[in-house]
Amino acid sequence: MFNALVVTRDEEKKTAASVQQIGLDDLPAGDVTVAVEYSTVNYKDGLCIGPGGGLVRNYPHVPGIDFAGTVEASDDDRYKPGDKVVLTGWRVGEAHWGGYAQKARVKADWLVPLPEGLDARQAMAVGTAGFTAMLAVMALEDHGLKTGSGPVLVTGAAGGVGSVATAILAHLGHEVAGVTGRPETADYLTSLGATQIVAREELNETTKRPLESENWSGCVDAVGGAMLARVLGQMKYGASVAAVGLAGGAGLPATVIPFLLRGVNLLGIDSVMQPYDNRVRAWQRIARDLPMDKLEAMVQPATLSDLPKLGADILAGQVKGRVVVDVN
Ligand code: NDP
Repeated sequence: MFNALVVTRDEEKKTAASVQQIGLDDLPAGDVTVAVEYSTVNYKDGLCIGPGGGLVRNYPHVPGIDFAGTVEASDDDRYKPGDKVVLTGWRVGEAHWGGYAQKARVKADWLVPLPEGLDARQAMAVGTAGFTAMLAVMALEDHGLKTGSGPVLVTGAAGGVGSVATAILAHLGHEVAGVTGRPETADYLTSLGATQIVAREELNETTKRPLESENWSGCVDAVGGAMLARVLGQMKYGASVAAVGLAGGAGLPATVIPFLLRGVNLLGIDSVMQPYDNRVRAWQRIARDLPMDKLEAMVQPATLSDLPKLGADILAGQVKGRVVVDVN
């Protein structure tokens, strides 16, 4: 028997999460069983620990969209007992049981070998949020982002995606402007490498002007909504915005003018169904381009029993940086 955070749902569709003992036979079918060492808390985890946000299909459910650990048993040639692995995405923790347990059973296709230079704890300090931040930076680079062309904007900067994006971009030599609604995080963001702090109110208000002065050479946007619309009108000629998240809303009250008159690009970033080769490339880039001391400065440690509170906190935009959950 081992510990897991189990979410149950009653007849009135009210959910409740608690740490329970489950057995290997309770785990879903899959080719690889992993002894989980660490997991983490992303925005989506907040939804799945709570009422589900339509993501969870069946109850009881074990959430946790990310985990890292050691292979315990494998029916797949690619993995053998003792291998270190990391998993993000593939709807694990939503449609499938996830990483908030001491053991997980999954498809081999969903795993990535832990990259050289990262241990399981560091991989979970990165997690889906950090992995997605790296995908966003790679997409901006693939569309021409170069150092020395002006500040790169990061929205939701003190959150998980934003913190990792800030640290990576700064390490790569970019000036980074971080947008935050929490002025008290300014020192933290500066320590990650931000050179400019932009107050959320400055960008949250809609404007009738489709184009404003050309401020940003790129943008990693975790917020969406009115802020993304506003940012599009402030991009430099030919620059790109990597749209990652919707912390501020799923709508996009924008005009097409920035696309037509400034050649601005809006790049969609999806971490969940990302092909294997690009996953490996992103994890290698993380090991190379994310300074581990900066990553450590983002980390808040937690255990399985802290998760119900942390889930609510992340939905309220109150988690700073990255939570690392020691499931053991
Ligand atoms: P966090 O909660 O850690 O960060 C989100 C940040 O956004 C907050 O910390 C806050 O930053 C800011 N924020 C929150 N509410 C608002 C608001 N109403 N208006 C403006 N800013 C706001 O979440 P993550 O970093 O884990 O995820 C960020 C987003 O990215 C989420 O929407 C998530 O679903 C999405 N995501 C998408 C992925 C993909 O594959 N496309 C993968 C991972 C995440 P501050 O306090 O600094 O203002």
